[in-house]
Amino acid sequence: MADQQTFVIVGASLAGASAARTLRDEGFRGEVHLIGAEEHLPYIRPPLSKDYLAGSADRASVFVESKSWYSDCDVQFHPGTRAVSLDLEDRRVGTDDGGSRRYDRLLLTTGSRPRRLTVPGATLAGVHYLRTLDDSDLLHSLLADGGKRLVVVGSGWIGLEVAATARTLGNDITVLERGAVPLAAALGSELGALFATLHEEHGVTVRRSVVVEGLVGVGGQVTGVLLAGGEIVPADLVLVGIGVVPNVELAQKAGLAVDNGILVDANLETSDPHVFAAGDVANAQHPLVNLRLRSEHWANALNGGPVAARAMLGQDVSFDAIPYFYTDQFDLGMEYSGFGPLTRGAELVYRGDRASREFVVFWLNAGRVVAGMNVNVWNVNDAVQALIRRGDPVDPARLADESISLERV
Ligand code: NAP
Repeated sequence: MADQQTFVIVGASLAGASAARTLRDEGFRGEVHLIGAEEHLPYIRPPLSKDYLAGSADRASVFVESKSWYSDCDVQFHPGTRAVSLDLEDRRVGTDDGGSRRYDRLLLTTGSRPRRLTVPGATLAGVHYLRTLDDSDLLHSLLADGGKRLVVVGSGWIGLEVAATARTLGNDITVLERGAVPLAAALGSELGALFATLHEEHGVTVRRSVVVEGLVGVGGQVTGVLLAGGEIVPADLVLVGIGVVPNVELAQKAGLAVDNGILVDANLETSDPHVFAAGDVANAQHPLVNLRLRSEHWANALNGGPVAARAMLGQDVSFDAIPYFYTDQFDLGMEYSGFGPLTRGAELVYRGDRASREFVVFWLNAGRVVAGMNVNVWNVNDAVQALIRRGDPVDPARLADESISLERV
């Protein structure tokens, strides 16, 4: 019976492509359609602000699967095609090429898009965002030779990773942070400050507590960023990294439950039992902590797609991966695992050498490890995740004591 079914995936992303692979790996023999708005094969985003932007990773390395994989596995890939309508009753997706396809199961992996700056001058030439492979190619072409004044608006992960890459390529970088400390929302002030210092040590100017009032230009081309108070920070180009907005419009118009993303249960099922969602766009109930989480990181797409695929096949699954992400900036590499919303006001416990930036830091909430970040220390992520998953109170002194293995804390 399943062999006659049609599964449609809207969003040729990492989550979408991973789901398609899992459907075939699990032996599903019905039709699989993967609909993607971009012309590219599904690709991963982490390198786009790091080594691919720097020019040190080759193009083939960003694609989730090779071109031949889609035909070899009979996954019908529809590039350059946008899903524009969804009829939950008829179980039909309409596309911008005038087509329409009936589905037995539908997966929405529509991702997110950059939040746009809305100040005067925001549409001047030379104002860039980084989300797509094409964005990364364009930025690389502008930054590769060095010598440009790049002003970065927003000091989240995109802002800081691009700043580090562009600086390493020999450009002059100013980062504009509206708060007192970069990454404070993600890591708290103490660890955010570590990233600010890291950038300053490498010659990046980090401006704190500044408000961008507009962008100024000559002949339609940006030449500077106007701050409240009247100062203009000169720029040859501007990168805006002020967060993303989930692409919920298709789901919302169809009548699916949406609230900061498409609402899904722990098995990634939406309010319609034939429709599932994964990746950035899914706001999922996490079974471990009983929280709703909408994670915008690579690992969420990588791990969520396969869970959604199994759920589409009727398997009893639950997406219980511990949220994870990593970054590489200058000589600092780190991995973070855990539940950001539970870290507010948490106790910080360090293990290792903070001065040389080789340590693991844990966030303890009511004595329980809710998050951990290893900085320039490797092969500990599994142990960090096991501590989080265990969920029972730990002794902070033992956690900090490097003579005790993390497995025995
Ligand atoms: P982000 O990490 O969420 O950071 C957004 C930053 O922009 C925050 O510092 C935020 O400040 C600031 N901001 C928001 N609205 C602003 C405004 N109107 N004016 C000035 N600043 C504003 O988002 P992102 O850097 O744009 O990255 C996009 C997505 O990709 C995020 O989900 C991010 O996690 C993901 N990403 C992940 C990685 C990684 O895992 N290594 C790398 C790149 C991108 P407040 O904190 O004050 O709101």
